[in-house]
Amino acid sequence: MMEMLKRYNLPNRRSKIEDRKSNKVRVRFAPSPTGYLHIGNARTAFFNWLYARKEGGNFILRIEDTDRGRSSERFERIILEDMRWMGLEWDEGPDCGGGFGPYRQSERLNIYKEYASQLIEDGKAYNCYCTPDELEKRRDELLGRGIAPKYDGRCRNLSEKERIRYEEEGRRPAIRFIVEEGMVEVDDIIKGNISFNCNTIGDFIILRSDSVASYNFAAVIDDALMEITHIIRGEDHLPNTPRQILLNRALGFPPPMFAHLSTIMGHDRMQLSKRHNGVSIEYLKKKGFLPEALLNYLSLLGWSPGGEVEIIPLEDIIKRFSLERASKGAAIFDPDKLKWMNSIYIRNMDLERLTDILIPFIRGEGVDIEGVDRGWLERMVDTIRDNIETLTSVSDYIDIFFGTDINICKEGIALLKDNSAIDVIKAVRDEIREVDSITHDIYIKMVSSIKKRMKLEDKRLFMPIRVALTGRTKGPRLDRIFPLIDKEILLKRVDKALDVCTQNLEKF
Ligand code: GLU
Repeated sequence: MMEMLKRYNLPNRRSKIEDRKSNKVRVRFAPSPTGYLHIGNARTAFFNWLYARKEGGNFILRIEDTDRGRSSERFERIILEDMRWMGLEWDEGPDCGGGFGPYRQSERLNIYKEYASQLIEDGKAYNCYCTPDELEKRRDELLGRGIAPKYDGRCRNLSEKERIRYEEEGRRPAIRFIVEEGMVEVDDIIKGNISFNCNTIGDFIILRSDSVASYNFAAVIDDALMEITHIIRGEDHLPNTPRQILLNRALGFPPPMFAHLSTIMGHDRMQLSKRHNGVSIEYLKKKGFLPEALLNYLSLLGWSPGGEVEIIPLEDIIKRFSLERASKGAAIFDPDKLKWMNSIYIRNMDLERLTDILIPFIRGEGVDIEGVDRGWLERMVDTIRDNIETLTSVSDYIDIFFGTDINICKEGIALLKDNSAIDVIKAVRDEIREVDSITHDIYIKMVSSIKKRMKLEDKRLFMPIRVALTGRTKGPRLDRIFPLIDKEILLKRVDKALDVCTQNLEKF
């Protein structure tokens, strides 16, 4: 044992919290790479990150991949990519190392085995030879009698003879931790004081018969060895907390602080899950949400800075963040609010950056923008930015700016049947013919002269022009669209609109 302690530089079992290398806050995000990062665990990662940044501490990324059947390298890669995309950089982790590695649990299996042996030596754990089938049968029997299932402790005091018999039968033992009667108190930073009765827990497995550590055991050891000071995670882990505290005590580790974040629910008030559309970060990224908007939104899921303001720059969130202000009650994930927030960030974003991040989305629509002038592109982006909620909505404007022909929507066709539409569009056509392009100033002059001449109210003036130019009845400002479109294309579009006005419907 001592050899192992030295090799892994394990802290002395009796060390106290004050003996830690420093009093620095150390928090961790510990995803299992068994699926995508989603709103729930992204919020956990973010709150840990925020707390570390606020307190000048360290944010550690640990991969909990002991469940080899369900874990995959692909998901680990995606989780890391998504965290980087959100800007949640970590100080220590599987890719960048750090002084407390390895940071993947699958690379720490020997450490867990050593501690399991230590607990057996100390009389705090024992070999259990019960097979999964036997356990299930007993479990079902208890359930059938309306009793909450719990391990009955039958292997706690096996005689040497019984043990040998089991070994000879070829049974491979798991290791169970002894849970004594009593209460465990948790002083949770968010939830307050919670008591758990150990009677309901029962001796639980810390090392499976294939020598793989259980989640609770591996997490406790890693949290201690990595000198984690605060465990911030979803409240679905609250039932694990008494088990972890008992293990922590049995191993003589200093106790960490706990902060359990309230559950995130969907609109149906069910816990957020894959059933709720659009909860994975991959999906939100592909849909064109901005990481800064997502972080702002996540910050309000179970935390509040106080006051009415909802759009808060990240630096302010960091400054104002505190676990004490995290809410006890459930948070509701509202995709519409996230969209609204995203649109605000799109509207206020630096134009150059917005253009850069929109380019892949424009390309994704099959547009070759190789030879497109950068200045033109930025003006186009600036023109549509007030009208898009997510970056993928750029697809709504591709035909207007990159196409020649446009389809006129049904409502637009109806509007072109209005008596005055034909004269308005003819006047626009005459103006286009006269100039090289319709600049902003020319546009303003053109519409005011048509308006005066034809004595038209705004709607009957602008609607036909909008429909002729864009095929739709709504969209970005016309004075900004006109200058971005070539003369020949403008003429084509007004001619098409005139055809509609004159009932040449067979063309449509
Ligand atoms: N691997 C666990 C999970 O993904 C981590 C739980 C914890 O933070 O302790 O839920």
